[in-house]
Amino acid sequence: MKIETLARRYRVDNPDRFRLSDIDPGDSAGLAIDKDEAREMLKDSIRKLADFQDMLYAQDRWAVLAIFQAMDAAGKDSAVEHVMSGVNPQGCQVYSFKTPTSQELDHDFMWRTTVAMPERGRIGIFNRSYYEEVLVVRAHPDILAKQKLPPKLVGKDIWKERFEDIRAFEKYHARNGTLILKFFLHVSKDEQAARFLERIDDPAKNWKFNLGDLSERKRWDDYMRYYEETIRETSRPHAPWFVVPADKKWFTRLVVASALVEALESLDLHYPRVDDATRAELQEARVMLVAELPEKKKNGKKGDNKDNARRG
Ligand code: ATP
Ligand code: MG
Repeated sequence: MKIETLARRYRVDNPDRFRLSDIDPGDSAGLAIDKDEAREMLKDSIRKLADFQDMLYAQDRWAVLAIFQAMDAAGKDSAVEHVMSGVNPQGCQVYSFKTPTSQELDHDFMWRTTVAMPERGRIGIFNRSYYEEVLVVRAHPDILAKQKLPPKLVGKDIWKERFEDIRAFEKYHARNGTLILKFFLHVSKDEQAARFLERIDDPAKNWKFNLGDLSERKRWDDYMRYYEETIRETSRPHAPWFVVPADKKWFTRLVVASALVEALESLDLHYPRVDDATRAELQEARVMLVAELPEKKKNGKKGDNKDNARRG
């Protein structure tokens, strides 16, 4: 199987018919490969990603937003860490969204994520996002109450209205040059328990365990319903959801990398083309610089165009 197309299996192209139960969190697409092979495949995608990101940055037209949502311990952090490990940190921005601050609560629900949207030429990662507003907020009416909305605006259609707002927001950004990809890392309840136990048993991981995570775990079925509805309501061709099996971390990373590589490939990125006049200027500059060099360095460095473009 070509890694570039691996993620297509998990892209939600028919949202009306989407069922979360159709995706097995333990699935690995029948890939019978060992950890070393998986690592090699991932490395290859990471290299491609780095090349694309370099062109994205140089071209400065498109922005890319990758949203990660999941239950606790599904591996968001490690997916981001591994998949983005090869890209130039200057071209990448990662934001983790936690419980909103009082300042954030004084604004509309998308304010804090709107200001964090990636600029042209950048890849932005949202570790959690405005989607929490139709997930954790839906599970906890007291969180909604803290948002200080005028009471008459909080009716029975509030979630429908939020889906509508999110769809409009994403369409707007897509039309303005942001490529949006959304990943739901789908971990099973059993695997979550195993990972929580690891966080409890391994002193180096104790800090990752939060007693509050157990109360969210108790609401598992509610969350799965909310995720399913969210994905049905907001998966669109210009901002698709990928429901990624997350019980095997190596597989999660491959799928995420594959989705990013395929999406970036579709942008037809290239380094900015230089016109004849600029090329002539570059040659003039070259002649001047070479004239200043000591004799033994006069041949200059060849094949270094890529590095120059990166520094832009
Ligand atoms: P891990 O998967 O490793 O536990 P995490 O993303 O859960 O990482 P935490 O610091 O544990 O990070 O938790 C962030 C918390 O903030 C989550 O419980 C999330 O539900 C909550 N949160 C994020 N956005 C909102 C929001 N808009 N309203 C209320 N709570 C939110
Ligand atoms: Mg957490």
